[in-house]
Amino acid sequence: MRSRACPCCGATSGTTEVTCARAAETLSVDQLRPYWHGLEKTKYFFPYRRCSRCALLYAPVFFDDAQLAVLYSSMPPNMDMLPFAAVADTQRGYFRAAARGRPPSGDYLEIGPDVGHLVTEAVAHGGFERFWLFEPNQSVHGPLQQAAGGRPATILTDMRDLSPVPDGSVGLGVMIHVLDHLLDPLAMLAAIRTKLRPGGALLIVTHDESSLLRRAMGRRWPPFCLQHPLLYNPRTIRRLLGQAGFDDVTVRPSTNHFPIDFLARQAAQAAGIAIPHRLPLPRRAIGLRLGNMLTLAQAAA
Ligand SMILES: [Zn+2]
Repeated sequence: MRSRACPCCGATSGTTEVTCARAAETLSVDQLRPYWHGLEKTKYFFPYRRCSRCALLYAPVFFDDAQLAVLYSSMPPNMDMLPFAAVADTQRGYFRAAARGRPPSGDYLEIGPDVGHLVTEAVAHGGFERFWLFEPNQSVHGPLQQAAGGRPATILTDMRDLSPVPDGSVGLGVMIHVLDHLLDPLAMLAAIRTKLRPGGALLIVTHDESSLLRRAMGRRWPPFCLQHPLLYNPRTIRRLLGQAGFDDVTVRPSTNHFPIDFLARQAAQAAGIAIPHRLPLPRRAIGLRLGNMLTLAQAAA
């Protein structure tokens, strides 16, 4: 595994801030594979360093591109335990935040749309001309095509090559839980910036490493894991976006929606209590702030 400089500013100095009880950097990729996903994924992670120049929190020792390609390709299908409707509610909130005071226009671009919850919203609100969807996981291309609802849509697998998208064409770009997985987020953001039309916006959802939840949980905070080479807070994401050429950046906490029955069953399961499935529990969803943040970055009009 290679040692690298800060992905935002290139500095190599900093202070190690978060370390795993067990050191991942002493193991081989094969030994780490069982800890790459699922419930085991918080058992090992690489140490995170705070950059002394720009304050970004990143792992100086991490997998390289080739190793990541192998790890991502061997991931099991997304076994999301959350009911579809709750995920849809959460993503609807994201879309509303992005569309506020901005009637949809131009093309829509999303990196890692999964089955296309946000695409469904974007289609329902009309106004977008073409949908550019970069999704490496081919097993969700079918549902994604359906989410586009017959609108002009191009689904591509290589998210590092945005060249098929015409420069200056995109009204709304979207990255939900993608940016904290990238080795070189600056290159991706700069590429998206050139695709935005004047006044276009990029919506980003990431974890917030300065959140209360992170402070309360310390090194047991689940986003400290093998899948995240770096993690952001409002200040560091703003700096990164400025570097990538975005002019106006706003950051705020985001809300996830969970049905009450789902939360109750999860809590009971964690405590080792069996709740009979017949037991009536409210289905109504509640919104929770889980230490995620929503960033809206705009290109100058
Ligand atoms: Zn830095």
